[in-house]
Amino acid sequence: MTHQTTCCYCGVGCGVVVKQATGGQLSVEGDTQHPSNRGMLCSKGMNLNYTVMDQSDRLLYPQMRFSRDRPMQRVSWDAALERTAAVFKTFIQKYGPDSVAFYVSGQCLTEEYYLVSKLIKGFIGSNNIDTNSRLCMSSAVVGYKLSLGEDAVPVCYDDIEEADLFYVQGANPAWCHPIIWRRIEAHKAANPQVRIICVDPRRTDTARSADLHLPIRPGTDIVLNHAIARELIDGGMIDASFVADHTDGFTALRDVVRLRTVDEAADICGIDADAIRQTAAWISQSKGFLSLWTMGMNQSVVGVNKNLSLINLHLLTGRIGTPGNGPFSLTGQPNAMGGREVGGLANALPAHRDVTNAAHRAEMEAFWNSPVPIAPKPGLTATELVDALNNDTLKAIWIINTNPAVSMPDVNSTEKALKNARFVVVQDISARADTVAFADVVLPAAGWLEKEGTMTNAERRITYLPKVLDVPGEALPDVEIIWRFAQKMGFGDAFTYPNAEAVYAEYARSTANTNVDVTGVTYALLKEKRSIQWPYSLADTESLGTSRLFTDHTFYTPNKRAQLHAVPDENASEPTDADFPLVLTTGRVRDQWHTMTKTGRVAKLNQHAPLPRLQLHPDDARARAIRDGQLVTITGRRGQVRVTAELSEDIRPGLCFLPMHWGRALAGNPDSSTLGRANNLTNALIDPRSKEPDFKFTAVEVLPY
Ligand code: SF4
Repeated sequence: MTHQTTCCYCGVGCGVVVKQATGGQLSVEGDTQHPSNRGMLCSKGMNLNYTVMDQSDRLLYPQMRFSRDRPMQRVSWDAALERTAAVFKTFIQKYGPDSVAFYVSGQCLTEEYYLVSKLIKGFIGSNNIDTNSRLCMSSAVVGYKLSLGEDAVPVCYDDIEEADLFYVQGANPAWCHPIIWRRIEAHKAANPQVRIICVDPRRTDTARSADLHLPIRPGTDIVLNHAIARELIDGGMIDASFVADHTDGFTALRDVVRLRTVDEAADICGIDADAIRQTAAWISQSKGFLSLWTMGMNQSVVGVNKNLSLINLHLLTGRIGTPGNGPFSLTGQPNAMGGREVGGLANALPAHRDVTNAAHRAEMEAFWNSPVPIAPKPGLTATELVDALNNDTLKAIWIINTNPAVSMPDVNSTEKALKNARFVVVQDISARADTVAFADVVLPAAGWLEKEGTMTNAERRITYLPKVLDVPGEALPDVEIIWRFAQKMGFGDAFTYPNAEAVYAEYARSTANTNVDVTGVTYALLKEKRSIQWPYSLADTESLGTSRLFTDHTFYTPNKRAQLHAVPDENASEPTDADFPLVLTTGRVRDQWHTMTKTGRVAKLNQHAPLPRLQLHPDDARARAIRDGQLVTITGRRGQVRVTAELSEDIRPGLCFLPMHWGRALAGNPDSSTLGRANNLTNALIDPRSKEPDFKFTAVEVLPY
């Protein structure tokens, strides 16, 4: 048997062909018919079959305990969901609807996200649902909304082959979005005039392939982008008619970028001023200017401003809405975008409606026939959920397919919050997830290939994922867990569905006449066409969707003009000082995914980086008498990590890098089970608008152990 599906790891959203031998053996290969990856898979995708076949850590049955000092007991689904419903109802009655919350994941399918959002916003009456996409893409979301009027990635992967300049800022796609990177590499190999600029304080594999590497000081991205903007403006390299006809805010932006000379900016960024001038010249000379970015821009206390400063470069030069041109945020997770579409963020409602907009609330209340009004204020975001558990304003949290006990900033505070919570439900596939240890109720979920649904990848491409395998034990698809729970809460009339397809059909109806219109998308059409890019209304059913947005330079803002933003260029991260003089940045290694609950099962993937290692510049090591391979202690204001040092000139002096994947279960540290956990160190500072944490900038000291 052969099945076409989509990889469950990153936002590239590669098509995968799964082959099932008569003995049940699975093999995977890239889907040559899928437009996103054209048959290619990276190391993680190529090993998906091993991830699925190792069932040793699967959660198989609902479990429950009545107090934290008692062991978990296997219970029936009815018992687990009835107790959870009773606890939720009690808290809601006693403390109000905001006393409960859901924390979900970019790994969830669109239907799952939609149902949880509908349940809490439309039926419980709280907006307390947030997703781990908050830790990943929320700065890009706000950046797009403020500049283009909508959380809408304007470009598509086919723009790669149309571009001749790639400006990669705060991203390492060679490791983290490998199939996109392979398309760029192949395009450059075939077209030597294609240029790549990489902005990263580390010389990553992406930087090594670049024609120009700008190893800026951490936190100076806005200074750099403003200097490029100044060079473009003062050098007469902007598209003045595009700026006049399609944008607002030019004068304010011009005045702000002229506050520093290019030489002053270069000094602040710690790079050569000629490199800034060269970047501006290459942008001006290019026919297709594509910018790519991820966490180096988004995971910042000034993440929104960073995004706006980059989008400014496209608007100044009119490089948007035409082939090969546009800003392209590389989505981290496979369905982060799908989750945003259905209202998975604490401030959103389906089809990018906003909870603070009375008309949007009224539309969804009518659509859902809600028994309670939708709350007018945004719910708690990821780090705010932790704070609310710690101060006891939030009583119960239900965590779905994510592992905050490893992935949250200042993770010791998250552990404290989960211990402090009155009631914790964890819904997951794996007992490896550290968060399971904090649960009062554990619900076993179906995994990849064990349920059907849809996802949206980084280029707005919706694909259908079929159910291929039976679930192990008593695990259930996440949609079914949610609708069964909603029925126990007394909302049966609105949560009775025959299948996931019916959930999708309801969501699609809710998008009518919005910018995210997918009223033309059905499971049948997705099976026939394989994938569709939104928007895709009933009028579009002959096409494969909308590959590129803003082709007529009409934007989604109220006056249809894009907005240039004169943002300040200061960083507001945790300061370094004599006690903590180094900056720590965290990120991924090539072959692991998030907290390793899936990729950690695969021996081949573990070989690339068996343990976390601290990348440190030899000058910083010498000043501290640290040798390559030596065990070191990294100390910050919130905790410690103890790992081996790896000395490398590929990182700027003053900066060190630690992978974010390892948690308690997989720390592999000789001294303590949490001492490889990077988030012992990171801080919970957040961007004031996107509420995304500042994972890339933590003040630390490193000393020999
Ligand atoms: Fe999966 Fe991303 Fe690799 Fe594609 S690039 S195979 S989606 S992990």
